[in-house]
Amino acid sequence: MIAVISEEEARSRMLEKIGLLPERAVPLAKALACFAAQDYFARLPLPAFDNSAMDGYAVVASSSKKGHRLHVIGEQPAGANRWLRMSLGEAVRIFTGAPVPDGADAVVMQEDVTPDGDEIVVNVEVEPGEFIRRHGCDLAEGQRILTKGERLGATTIALLASQGIADVMVGGDVRAAILSTGDELAKPGGAKVEPGQIYDSNSALLSALVQRCGVIVKSEEHCRDDRERLTEAIKRGIKNNILIISGGVSVGEHDLVRDALYKLGAQIEVWRVAIKPGKPFLFGQLNQCAVFGLPGNPVSAFVTFLQFVRPAILKMMGSTNLDLPQLPAKLTVDLTNDSDRAHYIRGRLEHGKFAPVGRQESHALFGLSQSNALLRLDLGHSLKADEIVDVQIWDW
Ligand code: AMP
Ligand code: MG
Repeated sequence: MIAVISEEEARSRMLEKIGLLPERAVPLAKALACFAAQDYFARLPLPAFDNSAMDGYAVVASSSKKGHRLHVIGEQPAGANRWLRMSLGEAVRIFTGAPVPDGADAVVMQEDVTPDGDEIVVNVEVEPGEFIRRHGCDLAEGQRILTKGERLGATTIALLASQGIADVMVGGDVRAAILSTGDELAKPGGAKVEPGQIYDSNSALLSALVQRCGVIVKSEEHCRDDRERLTEAIKRGIKNNILIISGGVSVGEHDLVRDALYKLGAQIEVWRVAIKPGKPFLFGQLNQCAVFGLPGNPVSAFVTFLQFVRPAILKMMGSTNLDLPQLPAKLTVDLTNDSDRAHYIRGRLEHGKFAPVGRQESHALFGLSQSNALLRLDLGHSLKADEIVDVQIWDW
């Protein structure tokens, strides 16, 4: 019998066994939520050349005092550089993003001049440098723009595109299978539930959480509490990189998952962790697949997904940060954990305050749905109202 272990021990035993998947090149359009497999450095400065921040006129500031007349010698739109040159007393009609002509040291907004034939009258005092976006002022050539293991978001993807990069090297593509077990489960959308049955909500929960990690769910199955069917379903599931099973992982006669995994030759590394909810959590390896057994109660499945499955997925994908984001919050109530396990309290974080919400029991899905943050309260610990605590947020 494998002993109940601490959460930290379970996590480190699990992560030790999780390897990175092979890196690959993906087009930027497919790179969102992937992790960079290498460092990237700027090959172009930003801006790439001095250019106008406004629609207006490029001028020489010293000859553009309020009331001066300037001769407009040409036009420089954004796009091809016309290599215009200008000197004192001259202006070039210019548009946002267009290269600043040689000799110009400022741009005056079109709202601040009065056009008069091929001349303009300047209506403001023009300072050197005004409305010019200087070459390299945002980003210098050679500067690091992305670090290995960093998550790609919309803005970093845009930055790569600004460098002319179309494909980016990212960490492995995780293929996930979800298997819900239980005789009592009915598929949402199907027939009405019979007395004693419930709709399977874990498949939807886990599928959403997996997708939130940037991973595509390749298969979603339900299986009754039946040894043979379970064995067959597991065999199908382990063709993926990860298999997430919910239900049937505890100690009752109908909890067949652990036994089925053993009989198939799985290495069970973790079974039963000192956390509440989520004690029956299981992690093992079968062939090349990482198998997670989550308790069937929805809140337990949720908590164990976030504390174990998510970091495992992120490690496979090449992320350097495996932790959920944390925010400091002022606790609204006194809390004590006199149980023998670390307790994940579901609550709402709003305006910097964290308040427990809903029933704190592992079946209480509605309460969970009203929460947006988790507070981990270590065993034997007490907290007082108004204390500042760190809470985990999952809608990262
Ligand atoms: P188990 O872990 O199989 O002992 O199930 C524990 C509790 O979770 C029981 O009340 C189950 O009915 C419930 N449960 C198991 N699987 C699901 C599921 N997929 N969706 C919703 N509830 C579930
Ligand atoms: Mg069950």
